[in-house]
Amino acid sequence: MSKVPEMFGCYVFNESVMKEKLPKETYKALKKTIDAGKPLDLEVANVVASVMKDWAVGLGATHYTHWFQPMTGITAEKHDSFISPTDGGHVIMEFRGKELIKGEPDASSFPSGGLRATFEARGYTAWDPTSYAFVKDGSLCIPTAFCSFNGQVLDKKTPLLRSMEAISEQAVRVLRLFGNNTVNRAIVTVGPEQEYFLVDKEMFDSRRDLIFCGRTLFGAVPPKGQEMDDHYFGVIKPRVSAFMKELDEELWKLGVLAKTKHNEAAPAQHELAPIFTTTNIAADHNQLTMELMKKVAAKHGLVCLLHEKPFEGVNGSGKHNNWSLATDTGVNLFEPGKTPADNAQFLLFLTAVIKAVDDYQDMLRVSVASAGNDHRLGGHEAPPAIVSMFLGTELSEILEAIETGHKYSAHTAGKMTLGADVLPAFPKDNTDRNRTSPFAFTGNKFEFRMLGSTASVADPNIILNTIVAESLRQFADELEQADDFTEALNTLIRRTIKKHKRIIFNGDGYSDEWKKEAESRGLLNLTSTVDALPCMISEKNLRLFESHKVYSQQEMFSRYDILLEMYAKVINIEALTAVEIAKKDIFPAVSAYVSELCSAAGALGEYGADASAHNELIGSLSALNGEMFRAVRKLEADLKAAPSITDRLEHARYYRDVILADMATVREKADAMECDTASEYWPMPTYEDLLFGV
Ligand code: ADP
Ligand code: MG
Repeated sequence: MSKVPEMFGCYVFNESVMKEKLPKETYKALKKTIDAGKPLDLEVANVVASVMKDWAVGLGATHYTHWFQPMTGITAEKHDSFISPTDGGHVIMEFRGKELIKGEPDASSFPSGGLRATFEARGYTAWDPTSYAFVKDGSLCIPTAFCSFNGQVLDKKTPLLRSMEAISEQAVRVLRLFGNNTVNRAIVTVGPEQEYFLVDKEMFDSRRDLIFCGRTLFGAVPPKGQEMDDHYFGVIKPRVSAFMKELDEELWKLGVLAKTKHNEAAPAQHELAPIFTTTNIAADHNQLTMELMKKVAAKHGLVCLLHEKPFEGVNGSGKHNNWSLATDTGVNLFEPGKTPADNAQFLLFLTAVIKAVDDYQDMLRVSVASAGNDHRLGGHEAPPAIVSMFLGTELSEILEAIETGHKYSAHTAGKMTLGADVLPAFPKDNTDRNRTSPFAFTGNKFEFRMLGSTASVADPNIILNTIVAESLRQFADELEQADDFTEALNTLIRRTIKKHKRIIFNGDGYSDEWKKEAESRGLLNLTSTVDALPCMISEKNLRLFESHKVYSQQEMFSRYDILLEMYAKVINIEALTAVEIAKKDIFPAVSAYVSELCSAAGALGEYGADASAHNELIGSLSALNGEMFRAVRKLEADLKAAPSITDRLEHARYYRDVILADMATVREKADAMECDTASEYWPMPTYEDLLFGV
């Protein structure tokens, strides 16, 4: 493995490749563009494109693609070859600056939520030079933003970049107040831990629910689940280990900082965590990670399931979004300091997050809302749908001492005064830290745990960056007016803690008591996607995103439409799949088994032997099969009625309240029959096969 340093990033047109291959002047110009976020000059782009092409061709590339992140939540690419005809029927490999900086894919088939009239099919992609280009599968991939021709955003990268600007601007204002004149930018850092399941490819192929929906729609709970806790951090099986090894290598080649891998709580569940990096690169890299997980799995006869809840009754998969803010001089702003001034600054940034999470619980919930994640949030193993924040006992006590002006007895002798006293030491890395909290402070960063495993990390980070930018903006507005900064700071921090401490909860987030307690604190409990999404278009939230130039009102409305539509579509596909499986696989299989039981019972009767068990099974199974059949008929009829509901929100509600309930009834009957049907008759691999078959 000594080759790792050479292997790392070998397919990436990164800083050192640029420095080595580009003419000095071009490199300088490009670097300036990247650092200042300015548009690239066409002359410079021409040189960069040509050098990039030679570099990519050297790595076997024949095509280039603008790689972008439309609203589908995954990535999109359209490949053009470098060939350009010359005299005598020959071609040369050519790539021009304008092809590097701008592309014009036909955008009509990407969701736009009405932002782009259908006759205006064109969208354009524009290179984001802050993300490095890379070679994948024989194509030079250029990370790009994706917009409609009138400039409206059709992707997830653009608002993410805008939100990074917004928080940077406000953080710098606050830092200036603390007398810091050297910092020019604040950089959001993100490290997403990615959970996933691996199942055998052959078994996967014989389950239409996995093929079409990514999750099982049927399946009785096996005799053994995860109750023994023997999978978590357990020894990795050879086939899985081979997969992980290849995945690491492929990721390293693409410059992804894959760091940690281990088995997760559920059987067949695993996790990969990278080393954190800047938000937009983290978002790109997480997309690449998910893509490669699927590709590499296929090479090992496996399928990687990224669905948030592939199996009922065992843990679902999440994605932990570790988030922090650093200066361009490399200082983590959520690292408690060693001097009184540093601590005051730390506490101000901390209270900014507390305020943001409380003020915008609704948008944080929206940022993780999807049909798939609804099965997970509020389940026993996932954070609840209620947004709250874990700070740990010590830090909470410190905040309380600041708020009430009382002394913090455990660690300090006197009363704490901000800006004068050193923050009492508190154990930073408390190992027993709360795993049930949706939003936990973990020493020098926050871990947002509500994300489902499939999600693009762009959405939650767009929200996080913007809501914290808003807190910081309000703080800066107030403090910039103050005559006595220290006094004003003290007042502001006290007042903010008092007002927003209801969001802090250090107890068991999975408990029922918490639900009651949260309600009495006035916290939101938006249990389903359909409950959460309308928050997107509330006056308060529209104003927030508009004022920070992250989303225009129109862009918010379009996203709202897209998400509602996607929710209904996902459930529609699941319902149709459930109908197919129930009618064409399960019903005939159980009928066949019942018919076999009937002949056996008849034969036993002729011998005067006891056929009571057979008769009992014949009775119960055929009754259940009949009930399932009728439930399927009801589901079919209800599906037919869905298109007549024209209001998008009502339509989505109908899927949640009627269709999901119908599907649950079908499943209940089917799972009950699975328990009583002979294995050889059951028409698909069971949970036992899937979870323990690798
Ligand atoms: P765990 O949560 O499993 O105990 P760690 O706390 O070490 O593991 O880190 C989890 C993730 O948090 C990793 O992806 C790591 O890179 C990321 N992380 C660590 N520091 C930061 C930071 N300052 N900003 C963003 N992510 C970070
Ligand atoms: Mg973690």
